[in-house]
Amino acid sequence: MKLKQKAARIQGILERLYPDPPVPLDHSDPYTLLVAVLLSAQCTDKRVNATTPALFGLARTPAAMAELSVETIREIIKPCGLSPAKSKAIQGLSRILVERHHSQVPRTFEELEALPGVGHKTAGVVLSHAFDQAAFPVDTHIHRLAERWGLSDGRSVEKTERDLKALFAMETWKRLHLQMIYFGREHCPALRHDPSACPICAFAAKAALRVKSARVKPTRAPARTPKTK
Ligand code: SF4
Repeated sequence: MKLKQKAARIQGILERLYPDPPVPLDHSDPYTLLVAVLLSAQCTDKRVNATTPALFGLARTPAAMAELSVETIREIIKPCGLSPAKSKAIQGLSRILVERHHSQVPRTFEELEALPGVGHKTAGVVLSHAFDQAAFPVDTHIHRLAERWGLSDGRSVEKTERDLKALFAMETWKRLHLQMIYFGREHCPALRHDPSACPICAFAAKAALRVKSARVKPTRAPARTPKTK
């Protein structure tokens, strides 16, 4: 199967499974999305969503957040992990937004990535979901799936992003980013599963992966479609 054909078939399956994928992090504007994405590093979205109401209850604008002490922020966000670094970043970026960006979240990769705690993936999520800009944020789920499905060689996250952008139409990047994340979370256990029982790997995975895993008993749970907010 040609690569473009394979990509189209994968996209069709993802469309059927996740026709309307919601952004999994609760937010009300670009600023609260930015903070939530920052908090989600090495943390589940569920835990972030359980933590942000307390944080945004105290401060939901850059100006209000910049007034909080790092210690106060750290105490609230402790359940998300990495709280010393994340609290400093949240307060630091809030100050910068007030001082240099009129309390607005900037709309370019360059400006976003200059903020403390904001990397390329975080910037891409904000640009894509808050501002509808063309971006294809690649997280660990997407990176791993693109390699398993033979859509990229897995050499680096940057390479995966370039390969996916070349394979899929720009107007679908935003949806695909979410669809791949949901698929990875709901279908791909870390260990012991059978690619031949998977709706995508059954035809898309490299032959070596299918043969290697053929002896392993499937443990995959049935597919679920995410709730729409
Ligand atoms: S075979 Fe495994 S890794 Fe590949 S997509 Fe299916 S569940 Fe994920």
